[in-house]
Amino acid sequence: MTGKINFHAVLKTIRDCLPKDREFIGLHEPFFSGNEWNYVKECLDTGWVSSVGKFVDRFERLLAEYTGTRRAVAVVNGTAALHICLKLVGVEKDDEVLVPALTFVATANVVTYCGAIPHFVDSEEKTLGLDPYKLSVYLQEIAEVRSDGCFNKQTGRRIKAVVPMHTFGHPVDLDPLVELCHRFKLELVEDAAESLGSYYKGRHTGNWGRVAALSFNGNKVVTTGGGGAILTNDESLAKQAKHLTTTAKLPHQWAFYHDQIGYNYRLPNLNAALGCAQLEQLPSFLEKKRSLAKRYQEAFKPVNGVKFFTEPDFAYSNYWLNVLLLDGHQAAEKNHLLEFMNQHGIMARPAWTLMHKLPMFSACPRMDLTVAERLEQRIINIPSSVFLGGDYASA
Ligand SMILES: *Cc1c(COP(=O)(O)O)cnc(C)c1O
Repeated sequence: MTGKINFHAVLKTIRDCLPKDREFIGLHEPFFSGNEWNYVKECLDTGWVSSVGKFVDRFERLLAEYTGTRRAVAVVNGTAALHICLKLVGVEKDDEVLVPALTFVATANVVTYCGAIPHFVDSEEKTLGLDPYKLSVYLQEIAEVRSDGCFNKQTGRRIKAVVPMHTFGHPVDLDPLVELCHRFKLELVEDAAESLGSYYKGRHTGNWGRVAALSFNGNKVVTTGGGGAILTNDESLAKQAKHLTTTAKLPHQWAFYHDQIGYNYRLPNLNAALGCAQLEQLPSFLEKKRSLAKRYQEAFKPVNGVKFFTEPDFAYSNYWLNVLLLDGHQAAEKNHLLEFMNQHGIMARPAWTLMHKLPMFSACPRMDLTVAERLEQRIINIPSSVFLGGDYASA
């Protein structure tokens, strides 16, 4: 075992990869270098700021085109997108939904919005995401597949769906997960909130289940201020998604008639305008983000005690948030290192507290979470903004 991790070496390695002209470097700042002003101004000039307008349609078309899905439906945020995804695949009251313990709280929250119960699943170190092989062994043990679905033998409840999350932009191992979903009659819903621009075996994330959710929050790869989208290759699900997110109103020249309980989840035109301008730049954003990741990867090779996390071999990742993984025996140093970096002008953050440790989810069912527990202790996110990936560092 090597000795204590050298905080100064870690700090210097990060600093050497970043611009020198800033006192403080944030984790992920938005970058507006294209048509943002023009498009937003057009909304103000024409008065089309709210719930309908050409930018919403254009944004949805651009998203579908970019991700290779048949349809995209824009909504107010990623959480709302996930909520509707679960409704679309038929998650109902008292169902269980399998979600990773290592995720942002929205993935688990939306399950409860449907009256269902999150059931927490372990992660694998290769992807930082859901481990399909470990889940398969677990379901073999606790689940029973009947003609009307998959049931948890311990709780008697139906297990309706599984929601993998592509952690920090790195795709989970989707092929074995798709196979597992067929075998256990589970719906697959991808939480692709962090993975716009990430591909699994050459195909964009969000294409493996019947529906998937994206987020355009201020800290994501592209932002609409706040926003999200539902992706699907199923035309009829896209129609339902649009209907449910626009108060379930039947089209009519003046009559207000709603045929079910809907949601006011549609994305305002103003936000979509920002989104169109951002999406136009996505290829160059990805190039910059990947070049920063490459720089970190090279720079961290000789540094003891930490490893820069790189994309799994089946993936092309957007490197949304760059990850340093502390070596196992250095985990106790995590908080000290975080404090040291933040004090020295480098914003660094830990991974989320695991879902089953939050008070509202502590009684939820869960499998053995050893790997997620270890990852939680070892993950540190370091600066990842698009603008950090320019050419200045080599100058
Ligand atoms: C960002 C994010 C969401 C959605 O967040 P919103 O802020 O509601 O857009 C959902 N899941 C994960 C994993 C996320 O990172």
